[in-house]
Amino acid sequence: MRVLCFATNNSNKLSEIEAILEGEFQIRSLTDIGCKEELPETQNTLEGNSKQKSRFVFENYKQECFADDTGLEVEALGGEPGVFSARFAGEHRNNEDNIDLLLKKLEKKKNRKAQFRTVITLTTNNADYQFEGTVAGQIIFERKGKKGFGYDSVFMPDGYRTTFAEMTEQEKNSISHRGRAIKKLVDFLLTNNIN
Ligand code: IMP
Repeated sequence: MRVLCFATNNSNKLSEIEAILEGEFQIRSLTDIGCKEELPETQNTLEGNSKQKSRFVFENYKQECFADDTGLEVEALGGEPGVFSARFAGEHRNNEDNIDLLLKKLEKKKNRKAQFRTVITLTTNNADYQFEGTVAGQIIFERKGKKGFGYDSVFMPDGYRTTFAEMTEQEKNSISHRGRAIKKLVDFLLTNNIN
């Protein structure tokens, strides 16, 4: 069976994709391939960062792989926090501080439109391929819901009256940015002979 590394140690992300690719691809995590170092993420776009991570693993661990990078893009903030979503309120990368800062910056704004965007880069022996998934919605005025992570409790996807933090994991995955990007990757892997 073909082996692919998913350049992450996030067990939720790993089990989600393992379930979809079961029987077709064997998925290895960073730990599985013996990578204990932090992957470089020094680019200023999601495209740049996901490619940087994927190529780093490919070149240093000689393993075909894919890597993802996600950001929350808020229209009234010119696309911020975007690629800086994890460290919006500082390098300590605290989700609650990030949400507090976001709500403060939007305090007087009527336009609450935002989207989550995920870019996945797949690096094979021959080429790099990129896949994008987005979900549009609104940033609400205060936190709602306890599930999920990151900005989930203040993001209400269009067409829903619940935030991501009020949805089951399955419900969220079926409409989320990451779910959509993963679907494109999986369709590509299953329909193309990429060697
Ligand atoms: P990553 O590229 O998946 O590590 O995501 C970067 C940052 O974006 C995270 O630290 C979160 O702040 C935010 N983020 C990514 N995905 C989600 C999501 O599904 N819900 C809420 N926040 C997210």
